[in-house]
Amino acid sequence: MSTLRNNLILKKVEVFVWRVLKGRIPVLVELEKRGVDLHSVRCPNCDNDIESVCHSLLSCERVRDVWNRIFDWWNLPRPPNLNLSSLLGSGQNGSVSHNRVWQAVMWTCAYLVWKYRNEKVFKNKVWNVPVAVCEIQAKSFEWVSRRCEETRIDWNNWLHNPSSIVV
Ligand SMILES: [Zn+2]
Repeated sequence: MSTLRNNLILKKVEVFVWRVLKGRIPVLVELEKRGVDLHSVRCPNCDNDIESVCHSLLSCERVRDVWNRIFDWWNLPRPPNLNLSSLLGSGQNGSVSHNRVWQAVMWTCAYLVWKYRNEKVFKNKVWNVPVAVCEIQAKSFEWVSRRCEETRIDWNNWLHNPSSIVV
């Protein structure tokens, strides 16, 4: 896990991804395993399945839709049998993170999807896919462009041809 670094992204996002890959985010199934008495362990977003780490960040229907749109934005095919370690992992073993900018975007996506989930749980705030995708595009742009001031990244290029950006 020591290779899990991406200097284009905030430390707190890097730490979040590390915790995801270790299965250490407090999804309901994990809380129940630790003896927390819960009313339900079903997914707060969809209520169709139990809330595991994989469900909450990847296979939940709305989250899946977010990922599909992120892959479409980058004009990349969504690999079949995607799992969290190939999606967010260190760039080896069949990882889809072929470049650091793309990896930074995927990490931002996971980080914000978890934020939306928490806002649903703690503030009962409902989120929707198009707004989420716009926020992921804007936040990842903000974070990445702040980290590489020498390469001025153009917002239009970011939106329409992100894979052409080399930092
Ligand atoms: Zn769900």
